Amino acid sequence: MEHYANKTRYDEMIYQRCGRSGIKLPAISLGLWHNFGSVDIYENSKAIIFEAFDKGITHFDLANNYGPEPGSAEENFGSILNKHLKAYRDEMIISTKAGYYMWPGPYGEWGSRKNLLASLDQSLKRMNLEYVDIFYSHRFDPETPLEETMKALDHAVRQGKALYAGISNYPADKTREAESILRELGTPCLIHQARYSMFERWVEPELLDVLDKRGMGLIAFSPLAQGLLTNRYINGIPEGSRMSKNHFLKQEHLSTEKLEAIKKLNSIAQLRGQSLAQMAIAWLLKDPRVTSVLVGASSVKQLNDNLGTLTNIEFSREELNEIESILKF
Ligand code: NDP
Repeated sequence: MEHYANKTRYDEMIYQRCGRSGIKLPAISLGLWHNFGSVDIYENSKAIIFEAFDKGITHFDLANNYGPEPGSAEENFGSILNKHLKAYRDEMIISTKAGYYMWPGPYGEWGSRKNLLASLDQSLKRMNLEYVDIFYSHRFDPETPLEETMKALDHAVRQGKALYAGISNYPADKTREAESILRELGTPCLIHQARYSMFERWVEPELLDVLDKRGMGLIAFSPLAQGLLTNRYINGIPEGSRMSKNHFLKQEHLSTEKLEAIKKLNSIAQLRGQSLAQMAIAWLLKDPRVTSVLVGASSVKQLNDNLGTLTNIEFSREELNEIESILKF
């Protein structure tokens, strides 16, 4: 049954230009790495996607391997889109990626033309889509000539299977090279998807400036450090949380010092009248070079908490200094 999207869906969201491209992205986008796979509750995944779209989230981020099972997030997203949201395809920016392990043998991962183009075809089939809006090289491959990987992205765009090319997890120097190659090929690199949060700041010394100079956007993934930068773990490890399932967020990521810092950050957030998740997202959005913050959510409630950020994204100098001193732990 068709989902009738909320008529006021564009009223509250902020849209920001992605680098010097023609595309604007929502300040908050939704990622489907976890919570949308075959092991998750389909109705919950569907409710989160509906809520996101109804609140102005136009950008949904996937990858070939999201699940678990790998591929199942694309299948579920495709099924929800085609059954309920088909009428709104042109209002959406859907991305996928190739580069991490997906199938056995020498062509099932990394950055060869063979891997990228075969993987994109598989993704389109799983989602039952004719094209994605952004196709990413998911990681830099030190063993494949960068020209080959970039030419594969360019080819995907020329074939009409992707509208824009992106890169993810590329170090700053390789980002420069990749951007130059793509520009020469006539397919400008739209965006870099990088891990960025109060706890993970590798993009700050160099990458952010490279992107600014080259006219590319940045979309920040794991902005809540997979849930650490929220109130999720302040009083222990709740059942069903990402850490309790122990895939990518392990107990050893939460040291006593880190938990102390989280508690202090939570107090600042409370003084600002927002949740810690909201403050962590706002802290990223304060930098105009950050086009969008790519959140995950395991419930509609979490998603709405995250969306609540947009009513307070300003910081005083004192607040920023205090946050900085807490992050020195
Ligand atoms: P986050 O840092 O936003 O973590 C999301 C998790 O935090 C949720 O699953 C939930 O965990 C918890 N959470 C979210 N909101 C709240 C809230 N308001 N209150 C309490 N807890 C909350 O991002 P992800 O690590 O999920 O990454 C986001 C997206 O980034 C991915 O879906 C993917 O699209 C992209 N990504 C890209 C990568 C790349 O290499 N390019 C790598 C990793 C991610 P819980 O399940 O415990 O409820």
